[in-house]
Formats: sequence, structure tokens, C-alpha cells
Amino acid sequence: MSSFDVVIIGSGPGGYVSAIRCAQLGFKTAIIEKYSTLGGTCLNVGCIPSKALLSSSYHYAEIKHFADHGIELSGDVKVNLEKMIARKQAVVDQTSGGVNFLMEKNKITVFNGLGSFVDATHVAVAKADGTSETIEAKNIIIATGSKPSSLPFIKIDKERIITSTEALALKEVPKHLVIIGGGVIGIELGQVYLRLGAQVSVVEFMDRIIPGMDGALSKELTKVLKKQGMKFYTSHKVQSVERNGDAVIVQAENAKGEVITLEGDYSLVSVGRRPYTDGLNADKAGVKISDRGQVEVNDHLQTSVPNIYAIGDVVRGAMLAHKAEEEGTMVAEILAGQKPHIDYNLIPGVVYTWPEVAAVGQTEEQLKATGTKYKVGSFPFKALGRARASADLDGFVKILADEKTDEVLGVHMIGARTADLIAEAVVAMEYKASAEDISRMSHAHPTFAEAVKEAALAATDNRALHV
Ligand SMILES: Cc1cc2nc3c(=O)[nH]c(=O)nc-3n(C[C@H](O)[C@H](O)[C@H](O)COP(=O)(O)OP(=O)(O)OC[C@H]3O[C@@H](n4cnc5c(N)ncnc54)[C@H](O)[C@@H]3O)c2cc1C
Repeated sequence: MSSFDVVIIGSGPGGYVSAIRCAQLGFKTAIIEKYSTLGGTCLNVGCIPSKALLSSSYHYAEIKHFADHGIELSGDVKVNLEKMIARKQAVVDQTSGGVNFLMEKNKITVFNGLGSFVDATHVAVAKADGTSETIEAKNIIIATGSKPSSLPFIKIDKERIITSTEALALKEVPKHLVIIGGGVIGIELGQVYLRLGAQVSVVEFMDRIIPGMDGALSKELTKVLKKQGMKFYTSHKVQSVERNGDAVIVQAENAKGEVITLEGDYSLVSVGRRPYTDGLNADKAGVKISDRGQVEVNDHLQTSVPNIYAIGDVVRGAMLAHKAEEEGTMVAEILAGQKPHIDYNLIPGVVYTWPEVAAVGQTEEQLKATGTKYKVGSFPFKALGRARASADLDGFVKILADEKTDEVLGVHMIGARTADLIAEAVVAMEYKASAEDISRMSHAHPTFAEAVKEAALAATDNRALHV
């Protein structure tokens, strides 16, 4: 029987990053993956393919504005969806292949098959050819991720009533895509198909889209997406999603009890994701699963069994690839006797629409709820030279700072390249910067990053320069 210091179940960003860190720290490491490709949700049917399609569709949408830049096109510009999807798949394959390379480079043993607990130190791997192999481990890390969830009355048929996984590989551009759920995944994929020519309607139970983020971001994103043609039905509770031939009929009720009926040819159900532990036999090892289906962990990501840890989407907290990665690294370092720490308040959240939306720290709603006294500094992108030069005028940067100490408590931005700009805010907050600290740092001109400095100036003493 093969024996390892650490066995990791699941090869998503949590699992494979943890495996690399374990190997770097000198542990004999193995990783088990039930699918034939490594990389989990993120690389195969999540972050990477969605960003590939967002990029392709962005280029198509931008062509409409080429004339403003003095670029004249002759002839028709057409979308070849088959080619676009094939390109996305090539990006996925290359990225997943890169993980294989990293496993080999770090001498990590890869087992392909479904991993299930035999007991607290043994895992059986059921392989595709019907054989099974049991391996022994001093420590085990559960990194089995998540799957799309649905509503009890919706039957996902994967043809017309689909999840994000199918939406990443459609064979035609929908005529009318009805999206159930205005969270990050629904909005990102909605923008892809909106740009490619679909009518897109979003039905959201809450009173706004991207409800977990600061209200001002949600308001601005809604405004911009409406301008682009997306339709929103917020504060609507979906009652039924039924297939009728090639049509999908969605009914939803608003707060007044009025029912709307939307007929589309596809409906994307993006109401969240559920932690995934099917087939893991966690009970055989004595690992506790919560009522919500999450593997229960303490602050050190240790489960109810001391030598078994869990990370990523399968445990509490934001379902984000970089959160899973940090947790994977943290567990490896704990096993090596180090004392790592994750500040969950500083895990940024991003929506990769255009304009991009990005945030870190506390929202205004959260600060109000805790009675924290804060001040706000805001700066619109339209006042930036760089934004005018590239005609990316939508959005703003908003900095929330403690009223007395000036410490930055939250940064919320929507606009061009904010997915990258948010890193400055994370660094600032990690080092407990004040708004004035940021305002006194030189920012290259002309850049989008100047909006961060200007918002910091606005928060410091209401002394933004360019408004
Ligand atoms: C459409 C979409 C877009 C997204 N975009 C982003 C984004 O832009 N940025 C971001 O941060 N996050 C994004 N996410 C979320 C991100 O994909 C997840 O947070 C991340 O993949 C979680 O990583 P993980 O390692 O916990 O689990 P996963 O990536 O889900 O990986 C778990 C792996 O474990 C395997 N597995 C499960 N059970 C077993 C078993 N018993 N034996 C063997 N293998 C098993 C699974 O097959 C899977 O490969 C997106 C998600 C979706 C669906």
C-alpha cells in the first residue's frame, strides 16, 4: 500500500495549491481527482473559461466603438460561437495541462479516481477502469469544492434549463436568456451572451443584483448593464421554470403579489453553489458535516478529526478560488509547524464584467450595521485623463475610512481594470494604511490607478484634485 505524509482529495485551486506548498515543505504528497483533468471547477468550468468567454465577447462588443477611434471596418463582423467556445476550451486545456506539469515538477503523485474515506488514515481511490486502490496518509486535506445548486422545484435538464457549466459550452447564442439569480456568475455569463446578441433578463429575489457587495456598486453596475440592454426583475421570487418544447417559461412574483411570465429559449439557473461531499464517505473517518453540507472546521481549518483538514468551497466562507488557495497554503504550513494566518476581511471580491467591479473590506451597509463611524471619499472615472483617453468613463472608486483614525476600512470600485486595481487596496489595508497614506503615494499619470489616489484624497480632507 502506498503511504504519504499528506493526501489531498480534490485538485481545484485549493487542492492543487495545497499540494504544491506541501511538496515545497518536504512532505511526501499525493492528490486525488475524480475527473480526468486537474484544476477543479475554477480551471475547467469556472474562473478560467468564463473569463475566456468574457474576453472574446468583449472584443466583439468593442468593435462597435471602433469608429469612434477612427477605425473603419469594411464588411460584416460576425460571431463564430463554435470557434469562440473552442478557443475557450483550448485555454482551459492549456491551463489544466499546466497543473499536470506543476504536479510532476513538485513530485506529487496524482491518483485519478473518486476518493472516499476508509477510516481516518486511509482513502480508497475508485478508478474509471473499475479497479480500486487504498492509500495511507498521516494527514488528509478535503478539497472537494462545490457544485451548482438549484431550487427544489426547478428541474435542470442541462439542455435549455442549464447551470453555468452548460452555459460555458452552448452551441448557439440564445435568443432570450432568462437568468435566475443576479449574483456574480449569472451577471458575468449574462454579459457574455448579451454582447453576442441575446436578449438577457435577470430575475433576482433580493432588491438588487450582486447583493453581497456594497450597494453603490450594485446601483452603478445595474445602470451600466441596463444601458447595454440587460433587463432586471429584482425583488422577484421565481415560482416556476418549465420547459415547453424549445421554450422555457419562467414565472416570478413581486412583493405586491403580481406575477410576471418570461419566455426564453434558455434559462440559466445561477442561484449559488453547494459544498460537495458526495461519495466521500466522510462519516467513515468521523468527519462532521454541517446542516448546510459544509465540512465543519475550526480556525485552523481542522475538521472534527485532528489529522483531517478541509479547505475551499467545501468549508464556510466566500466561494472564491483565491480564498481556497490561501487556505490550501495555510494548512500545508500548519502541518509544517508554522503559524500562518488568513485575514478573511481582506479577501477581495471581483465581478469580471466590463466595467469590472472589485471590493475589499467592509461595505457601507456593514459599517452602518455595526454602528462604525466612517467617512467616504469617492472619485468618478470620468474625471480621469486615462479614462477619457480610452473612452472607459463609467464607474468610480469609493474609499471608506474610519472617521477618527482615518484607517481604510473598505474599498469599493467599479470601472476599467478595477479587478487589478483592487490589489493596491488589499496591500494598503494589510498594512493598516490610512486614507491619507494612500493619498500621499505617487501614482503614475495617466493611469486608472489615479482614481484610487483621488478617492483617498477625497476621503482624507475632501481634497480630490480633479473634480
Ligand atoms: C462559472 C464560474 C465562474 C467563477 N469565477 C470565479 C472567479 O472569477 N474568481 C474566483 O475566485 N472564483 C470563481 N469561481 C469560483 C471558483 O471556481 C471556486 O471558488 C473554486 O474553484 C473553489 O476551489 P476548490 O479547490 O475549493 O474546489 P473546486 O475547484 O470545486 O475543486 C474540487 C475538485 O474536487 C474534485 N472532487 C470532488 N470530490 C472528489 C472525490 N471524492 N474524489 C476525488 N475528487 C473529488 C472535483 O472533481 C473538483 O475537481 C467561479 C465559479 C464558477 C462556477
